[in-house]
Amino acid sequence: MKSAKSELSSGSLELGAGKVCFLTLGCKVNQAESEALAQLFREANYEVVSASEDADVVVVNTCTVTNTGGSKSRQAIRRMIKAHPESIVAVTGCYAQTAPGEVLGIEGVDLVLGTQDRNKILEWIERVKRERRPQNAVRGLEEAGEFEELPQLAEENRTRAFLKIQEGCNQFCTYCIIPYARGPLRSRQPEKALAEARRLVAEGYPEIVLTGIHTGFYGQDLNAEWNLARLVQELIKIAGLRRLRLSSIEPMEYSPELIDCLASSDIVCPHVHMPLQSGSDEILSRMHRPYSLQDYRELLVRLRQRIPDLAVTTDIIVGFPGETEADHASTLEFVRECGFAGVHVFPYSKRQGTPAADYPDQVPKKLKDQRVKELMTVAHASQRAYIHSFIGKTVEVLIEKVDTAGKAVGHTSHYIEVHLPGQQGKVWTSRQFVQVVLQEDYIKE
Ligand code: SF4
Repeated sequence: MKSAKSELSSGSLELGAGKVCFLTLGCKVNQAESEALAQLFREANYEVVSASEDADVVVVNTCTVTNTGGSKSRQAIRRMIKAHPESIVAVTGCYAQTAPGEVLGIEGVDLVLGTQDRNKILEWIERVKRERRPQNAVRGLEEAGEFEELPQLAEENRTRAFLKIQEGCNQFCTYCIIPYARGPLRSRQPEKALAEARRLVAEGYPEIVLTGIHTGFYGQDLNAEWNLARLVQELIKIAGLRRLRLSSIEPMEYSPELIDCLASSDIVCPHVHMPLQSGSDEILSRMHRPYSLQDYRELLVRLRQRIPDLAVTTDIIVGFPGETEADHASTLEFVRECGFAGVHVFPYSKRQGTPAADYPDQVPKKLKDQRVKELMTVAHASQRAYIHSFIGKTVEVLIEKVDTAGKAVGHTSHYIEVHLPGQQGKVWTSRQFVQVVLQEDYIKE
């Protein structure tokens, strides 16, 4: 054990007299969870400091999902150990869950905690201090029980707060490590989610974004009549909530009730993120995605019949094993047809332990890079066309930031980023809703 760790274990620094810093990799769910962990530390009177400051405890929240997540996580852990040689180093998150042995094998790691039991992190740190040896607190996900309640304080800025309503996934798409890293579907109890939402609104957040791993299946594991549509119907009754944004919902999970919520409520934003992943039926089937291009197309028609200017954003994986030129051309064509408001393009990368990692016909990197470029060009044109369709129309912008020159930036309910110039005699303020006629120079491309 390092000197400060010995000092801590000897009791010279009482619990609550310390500082903690965080380094978070990966997705918004990880960001939200780090915020929640920070809150647990604050409640124990820790001071949360930036990752560059001295701290008694360092928490590295890892990822294994994004490209090269595992190796990036290992680098981040080593970097933090080097920068904080005297600190207790706790490693949590998806990489910790899927490779606890590798994490503990890194000299200087004191605690490995996966994607469960994070609400016990302070107890585990006490144990590290007491026993003066590294601890492995990772439990197998087959034991994963209920949704883990953590304080939910995540915010993207002072206007938009994330409300996590669900954890885990049972779908096992063949490229995805998430079901192995986060375990089965667990939904947050509706009364807890609603109470959290009320608190966020009372704190002044005008917009809430629902987050989770497989949000569309919210409620499937609850022994009650709960599903996402019902939760949304309850959330929009909260007085003071101006915007509710759904995050990623899988294509087959838009029930008629959910579409009704989107179409009939002024509070539910007309914006859906609907992962497509490939524009080839053959590839979709090998990805184990439960829909065809025709299903996806018909869903878009149904949604747009009810909400004509709906913003639809998506994710696409390029270069899945066996993807041919014809598959790729079909994806480009399908993206042109769909009129997406935004496309996140990911080159396929192997995740050890997933079926697709062992598939033959892996696509060479150079070819993948070329296809990514081609798809990004099509995606960008599609996004541009969508945004430009609002030029000259009145849109409502929720202002998020105002700079010292008085310029403001915010988003419309369709998630178009709008940059407003400073105006004489007019001061924009964060959390303000303004109606503007969208002009070309309000958009940054
Ligand atoms: S639905 Fe598929 S891609 Fe999404 S988390 Fe589950 S397994 Fe991964």
